[in-house]
Amino acid sequence: MPFNSIDGKFVLDTSAILSRKYDLSSSIFYVTNSILKEVEKGKISRYLEMAESSLNIIDPDADSIARVKRAAQKTGDINRLSHTDIEAVALALQIGATLITDDYSMQNVSTVLGIKANSASIKEIGKVIEWVYRCTGCGRIYEENTGSCRICGHALKNYPRKTRKIEEKDEKASSTG
Ligand SMILES: [Zn+2]
Repeated sequence: MPFNSIDGKFVLDTSAILSRKYDLSSSIFYVTNSILKEVEKGKISRYLEMAESSLNIIDPDADSIARVKRAAQKTGDINRLSHTDIEAVALALQIGATLITDDYSMQNVSTVLGIKANSASIKEIGKVIEWVYRCTGCGRIYEENTGSCRICGHALKNYPRKTRKIEEKDEKASSTG
């Protein structure tokens, strides 16, 4: 993986900001414009005031967004993610930050991309689903969706191979890709 998590950079998604657990007067936090827009719909302007001069607002580049979309397609999370969600994950990927979110799909996609993801207020996601492709005929497992089975010619279907524990150390999270 080209990215390593650099300690001290954190992308906060909407749920993380709404948890009000973070001292936004610190300059270690990053959001996108779309996250900020979502948050401003809520009534926490006083909490946001303390972030005025310190919060880093960056929108991710197209390449990072595309990589997140591809990963979400692969894990099957794509339909559960809003554009704001995708941008938050993409920003964390782009700047090598830890993503703070309570959203399981965002956490799942982050993990397959080697992004460190932490929960803001609920229990951390303990495992990640790894999707592979299974032949509907002979049951053979494929890493890539080749369309049909090389052996018997039947169609392949999305199949959760196994789940694994997410380790605290981020070296383990970068084994995919
Ligand atoms: Zn087969």
